[in-house]
Amino acid sequence: MHLLKSYLQDAWVAGAEPQTPLLNATTGQPCAQTSSRGLDLGAALRHARQVGGANLRRMTFAERGELLSQLSGAIHAQRDALIEIGRINSGNTRGDAKFDIDGASGTLAFYANLGKQLGDRTFLCDGEQIRFSRSSRFLGQHILTPRLGAAIHINAFNFPAWNLCEKLACALLAGVPVLAKPATATAWLAVRIVELWAEQNLLPSGALSLLAGPAGDLLDHVQAQDCIVFTGSGDTGRAIRSHAQVLAHGVPVNVEADSLNAAVLGPDVAPDSDTFTMFIQDVVREMTQKAGQKCTAVRRIVVPQQSEAAVRAALVEKLGDTVTGDPEASETTMGPLATPAQQRDVAAGIAALQQTAELVWRGPKPPAQGCFIAPQLYASKAGKDAEFVHDHEVFGPVATLLTCDGSAGAVVGIVARGGGGLVCSVYSDDAGWSRDVLLGVAPWHGRIYWGSAKVSDQGTGQGAVLPGLVHGGPGKAGGGEELGGERGLRFYWQRTAIQGDTQLLKQILG
Ligand code: NAP
Repeated sequence: MHLLKSYLQDAWVAGAEPQTPLLNATTGQPCAQTSSRGLDLGAALRHARQVGGANLRRMTFAERGELLSQLSGAIHAQRDALIEIGRINSGNTRGDAKFDIDGASGTLAFYANLGKQLGDRTFLCDGEQIRFSRSSRFLGQHILTPRLGAAIHINAFNFPAWNLCEKLACALLAGVPVLAKPATATAWLAVRIVELWAEQNLLPSGALSLLAGPAGDLLDHVQAQDCIVFTGSGDTGRAIRSHAQVLAHGVPVNVEADSLNAAVLGPDVAPDSDTFTMFIQDVVREMTQKAGQKCTAVRRIVVPQQSEAAVRAALVEKLGDTVTGDPEASETTMGPLATPAQQRDVAAGIAALQQTAELVWRGPKPPAQGCFIAPQLYASKAGKDAEFVHDHEVFGPVATLLTCDGSAGAVVGIVARGGGGLVCSVYSDDAGWSRDVLLGVAPWHGRIYWGSAKVSDQGTGQGAVLPGLVHGGPGKAGGGEELGGERGLRFYWQRTAIQGDTQLLKQILG
């Protein structure tokens, strides 16, 4: 069986026995194994800080950008082999695997280009010089310099390629070395990507480490100049934030956690309109792509009462096209969940949901072997009071239809019950209503996707996280923020105000 090793101190090392098996999501059979037992994570972090940090800080933004460009190219060159790993270990259809892998190489390419634009500098100024008095001889200026520690990236199981690359693109471009820890259950793809980079000697010494297997004592070794970026469940996010060493050293932690994303239909949208078609297509894609295992998937569908019947009928018809099965079969449009644990979690979530919501539609019984769950749509008349629907993220191909009177106030009230999310999509051609909803839900979200007739043939859907736009959300979503072009680099920098002689400041800042 394939043995996954960790890449620490520029070398591949295997953890001690016993190994943890990784499963083929479609068959349930082991496909790889890994262990992090006995690995010296303290030494790995020291090497990253001392060697990797120094190497990256010596490079200009343009040089770091060139590095990212090479990392992106190496993924693209092996795209088909990587897609195959996604199929086996994550149960991805070809389309799902491409979403993950092309998202990874595309995000690296985006940040490569940003590095080129930032050019031959090694640090940045933040804003303009600030004058304090009538004299212009003594000024203030904020600067942004890379943290001197390591960035610890702890990733979720659902996007092993994209999660790895979207985080490291920002950190490496910012000049900070990375220790990445993919979720154990689907780590094979992340390990293979780092193997490709290491085989081609693309990585400066110490710039990237990869921990395959559980985190072990990793967080016991964090220090004041390190930072942590986490994607996964709210519970783990809280455990990381409250880790004694993290608290003792004031280590910054960025958390992307649970999110009960809503898709909202405006009362102006007629069932025969392009905006309505866009809404239905987007909701069904967001429910079934990656078998609903996307942090940005639609969980709550909010529609005005007068549109409920039309929405139900259209969703049931479109969902009926879903073919759940072996991702290798060409007719399959939705594969299994990634792990038996996720399958159990989703089944338990559905059982609880059924206590409070009515089943509208469920797909045909999927294969019994493997981690399959049939896609399903529920409806609740409880609106804002549908407690479970607003509080619990069922991380699979499941969503619940909620109705209200369609007024902007009612819509905002229902959406806000999610307690903070990554993204909300709003479908309407009525600028006034949309304005009230967009501004009403904005404080609860990191991103809003506005679908309307003029963009109905161009939209990416709310599920696509674009590197130029921020990803993250307040409250339940973890309160974190990633990506967003240059904004994504700021987490890795210290902002420092320097006050001093104007001429001397000019000499060092350029
Ligand atoms: P998880 O159990 O929180 O695991 C996420 C990552 O944290 C994994 O790499 C895991 O490692 C690691 N981890 C677990 N305990 C840790 C600890 N004490 N210290 C350091 N690292 C630790 O989440 P998951 O299993 O990937 O997903 C479960 C749920 O998270 C989903 O059902 C969904 O609700 C949510 N989720 C949210 C997002 C998002 O972007 N917002 C994405 C995916 C999932 P191991 O794998 O080695 O245990």
